[in-house]
Amino acid sequence: MKAAVYRGPGEVRVEQIPKPEAEPGGALLRVSYCGLCGTDIKTYRRGHHMFTPPCVLGHEVVGRVVETRDPSPSVSVNEGDLVAVAPYVPCFVCPLCARGRHELCRHKEWIDGGFAEYVSVPAGVLQKGTFRVPDGLDPRVAALAEPLACCLNAVADSRVRMGDTVLIVGAGPMGLFMLESCKAAGAGRLLVSEPEECRRLQAGRRGAEVVDPGQTDVAAWVNDATRGFGADVVFVCVGAPEAVDQAMAAAGPGGAVNVFGGLPGGTMLAVDAQRVHYDEVTLTGSFGFAPEHFRTALGMLAAGRVDVDGIITHEFSLDDAARAFETAATGKCLKAMIGVGQDG
Ligand SMILES: [Zn+2]
Ligand SMILES: [Zn+2]
Repeated sequence: MKAAVYRGPGEVRVEQIPKPEAEPGGALLRVSYCGLCGTDIKTYRRGHHMFTPPCVLGHEVVGRVVETRDPSPSVSVNEGDLVAVAPYVPCFVCPLCARGRHELCRHKEWIDGGFAEYVSVPAGVLQKGTFRVPDGLDPRVAALAEPLACCLNAVADSRVRMGDTVLIVGAGPMGLFMLESCKAAGAGRLLVSEPEECRRLQAGRRGAEVVDPGQTDVAAWVNDATRGFGADVVFVCVGAPEAVDQAMAAAGPGGAVNVFGGLPGGTMLAVDAQRVHYDEVTLTGSFGFAPEHFRTALGMLAAGRVDVDGIITHEFSLDDAARAFETAATGKCLKAMIGVGQDG
């Protein structure tokens, strides 16, 4: 089968690789669409500790079930169904899972990369993380369930409450999904800092007050906008340590800062201890999601509870995968989709 193989930073090649088989209890999926995620782009730019080349990237997968192999009776999807697949599921039994920290499970079961014609869905993922795409939902939009699920997990971690003032640093696809997730959680005011004008427009259209961090001191702006109280929750949706500094300065007393954008290993953050001690500002981070977030995200997308207008800016065929990575790496697109089988 055809697949876009990641061969190392800056190099993705469309090659023939062996077609996978359905594992016992699992399924084989013909991929319809797979979204290009920030993690894929980061890996393409500078490598990633989780992905050793050569390998196939892509984890925002929607496809059609072409074969199941003795699935457990609790599996809710059938051959022929169009499904959205969580790229990994937790074990639900380890100590971290027992404490409800499913995204931190050390025994996750994973699917292989989705930038390929077929993907094998192992038994656990079929059982716990595979959901039928609701009728009428565009499969491209269904492929957004994974990034949205990551934001729902972060919003739950940082406890956005009704009426809260939230600052979102960065209005890329994840920043915009975070904005939508905070709206759904009942946030009162949404403040967004973003250097690119077209992204500020997207955030503004969604009801946020926006600022260009290149022109204005973000912390001072938030301080003015909140009469000195600062933001209740700040999500840092860019991978830059300076953005965390801004976030720590913009959070109000008792506020929380969530480092949502990944930073390279070894990155050190300078934190004013007074902010942590006297102002009780919490610094935390979020990564990934649990199947429940994924299911909720898919349901919100199907119900039209998330404004996805203008988020998918580019679509490429699998043959054009190298160009898709190049284009996404320039930062000029919001969400890029790779159409593989494109049915649905
Ligand atoms: Zn993703
Ligand atoms: Zn576990």
